[in-house]
Amino acid sequence: MAEQILVIEDEVNIAEALERGLIYEGYRVDVAYDGTRGLSIARDNPPDLVILDWMLPGLDGLEVCKRLRAASEVPILMLTAKDAVPDRVEGLDAGADDYLVKPFAFDELLARIRALLRRHKAGPDRPEVLRFSDLSLDTGTHRAFRNDRAIDLTAKEYELLELFMRNPRQVLTRDVIFDRVWGYDFGGESNIIEVYVRYLRQKTETENESRLIHTVRGVGYVLRED
Ligand code: CA
Repeated sequence: MAEQILVIEDEVNIAEALERGLIYEGYRVDVAYDGTRGLSIARDNPPDLVILDWMLPGLDGLEVCKRLRAASEVPILMLTAKDAVPDRVEGLDAGADDYLVKPFAFDELLARIRALLRRHKAGPDRPEVLRFSDLSLDTGTHRAFRNDRAIDLTAKEYELLELFMRNPRQVLTRDVIFDRVWGYDFGGESNIIEVYVRYLRQKTETENESRLIHTVRGVGYVLRED
């Protein structure tokens, strides 16, 4: 059965666009235009994931997030027009699982939804083996394999590779990579992503192995076959 997504968003245009797009992608969708209604829908028809706008009339998104979290482990993706660090910290404290800053690309939203649903299904502690082409990554041991060749990874290399493996064939922008792997505690312009991609390529591409992590010029990177 298709996953049920609850959209809590007071901006009608955005809510309707999300509803249409998500239904088109095969999800079942409920929409609430305020937090109180959202909470009651969540109670009556428990969703698999909640997309929650920060700025809502009445109960704001943060309060809704806290109340949802008090009642269940449902993944919560918050939408915010504000990209300020204290907001994000507040939201994490309130139990949000991920953020998307408006305006966002719908593909990016879909990628985050898929990642959250997958992570939630897998459970936070249950290891799994992610596979792409001849590359595999064990989320328990944090070891990678190219065919049978074992690859040891540092903590950051692992996080970066996990992000690629969980979003195969999707272009990940530098902003997204930065946000997911290094987070908001690591500010400023930096070539750190380039450096770590180079490390990963050195480890995952020995002489006869094809390139898997490709550069998308001016945008970011994508894990795909040649
Ligand atoms: Ca709003």
